[in-house]
Amino acid sequence: MNQLFINNEFIASKSTDTMDVINPATGEKIDTITFATEDEVNDAVEKSKQAQLEWEKTPEPTRADHVKLLIPLLEQNKDTLAELYVKEQGKTLASAKGEIDKAIQFIDYMTGLSMNNKGEVLQNSRENETILLTKKPIGVTAGIVPWNAPIMVLMRKVIPAVITGCSVVIKPSEATSLITLKIAELLRASTIPAGLVQILPGTGETVGAQLAQHPDIQLISLTGSMRAGKSVYAESASTVKKVNLELGGNAPVIVTSNADLDKAVNYIVTARINNAGQVCTCPERIFVHQDIHDTFIDKLKAQMEQLTVGDPFDESTDYGAIINQQQLDSIDDKVQNAVKNGAQLITGGHKIKRSGFFYAPTILDHINLEDSAFKEEIFGPVLPIVTYSEFEHALNQANDTNAGLSSYIFSENLKEIMLATEKLKFGEVYANCEAEEVVNGFHAGWRESGLGGADGIHGLEEYYNTTVSYIRYD
Ligand code: NAD
Repeated sequence: MNQLFINNEFIASKSTDTMDVINPATGEKIDTITFATEDEVNDAVEKSKQAQLEWEKTPEPTRADHVKLLIPLLEQNKDTLAELYVKEQGKTLASAKGEIDKAIQFIDYMTGLSMNNKGEVLQNSRENETILLTKKPIGVTAGIVPWNAPIMVLMRKVIPAVITGCSVVIKPSEATSLITLKIAELLRASTIPAGLVQILPGTGETVGAQLAQHPDIQLISLTGSMRAGKSVYAESASTVKKVNLELGGNAPVIVTSNADLDKAVNYIVTARINNAGQVCTCPERIFVHQDIHDTFIDKLKAQMEQLTVGDPFDESTDYGAIINQQQLDSIDDKVQNAVKNGAQLITGGHKIKRSGFFYAPTILDHINLEDSAFKEEIFGPVLPIVTYSEFEHALNQANDTNAGLSSYIFSENLKEIMLATEKLKFGEVYANCEAEEVVNGFHAGWRESGLGGADGIHGLEEYYNTTVSYIRYD
């Protein structure tokens, strides 16, 4: 497929720069995508700029009415979209459909906020003066999207931008450009005016970097790894644009001696195997109280060993494929390294022998705190465990990380839950549940996990500039 989506038209890129699209669950090539050239990026940004200037004149509730029309289009095309999504990304069909449902819920909620753009009347300090603070669309924005949740994250970039009167140039992940271009067909079928959403496949180093440096882009929002986020942050400096970063995590999980272990194991496994462990909020560092350690490990092992891994189209499959060979090798390297350094392999610890890229459900007990499988984000179905004796010490160790996205506590003791909620320095604390990320929440990371955030009323704020107007009448 050689397509760019510019001004509501699919046009062929003039580039010879292409990439094979491989189905991660079979290893077979399913298509080829072509990347946008530098001129094509400039052309798309220029068209975005023109479209935005018209669009900002439209009142916000009317903008939302156009955006809402995406809901029936997504509903009608859910099965076709989900099928292509699974072939390109490797997640289970149920998970693909679940993500589309979440995107629909997101659109519904965010469009419902369209009457909420409120300014302020500020206290005046001089006679005969009124001071108004108004919020205005920031202008042309860019959205850089990862492969692990390309539909939901695409919506997180497109919907707030269009509702607030901005336009957005999207660079999908190289690994999920097909599904993104398929959604462009729905954008084209909607009444959202041409030029407000452009979609340009390309690499981070080319199209991504060009967008980050482009003087006509006022906000760049990237969801991806810390490495990519830091590059975009640096690349954006020359034009002092606003930067919104949703980056990797390394979520701690504290399982106290007061936890309901069946509940804890169930939620930890559910959260860890979501998308084969390739989710930024997945549990990644498990701190288990020494008194319940052995029972916890027995229950966790039993549940991990019951999982069905394989064909993402099979309804009985618990999780599907890892996105590509490189990610699969990276998971295995971290696991083998941890074992070499003394971690006890309770189960798994290997690639699954079949076509495509699959990793076995893995538990690493007594892992060294300095191991990469513990210290860095591990994007796979791997649970690294350590024991603790003092609750406060566990909280301190949980906070001792450069990541700050999500965290978990399992306990039936209210005092422990409240202390954890208060002391864990993360954007999200999940107490006795799996990661939820509600559409009316605010998904934001501390430390190197991000800048700003997404979702809900706070997410919309990222897309506004403010003007303070001083009106004298003496
Ligand atoms: P990635 O960083 O490799 O790529 C993400 C996007 O950034 C891609 O579109 C890529 O092409 C682009 N990119 C890469 N380098 C760039 C550069 N120098 N300049 C501009 N763009 C660049 O990440 P990935 O492998 O696609 O996704 C997995 C990562 O994303 C994980 O770390 C995960 O935790 C994170 N993630 C975070 C959230 C969140 O909400 N915090 C959500 C989903 C994924």
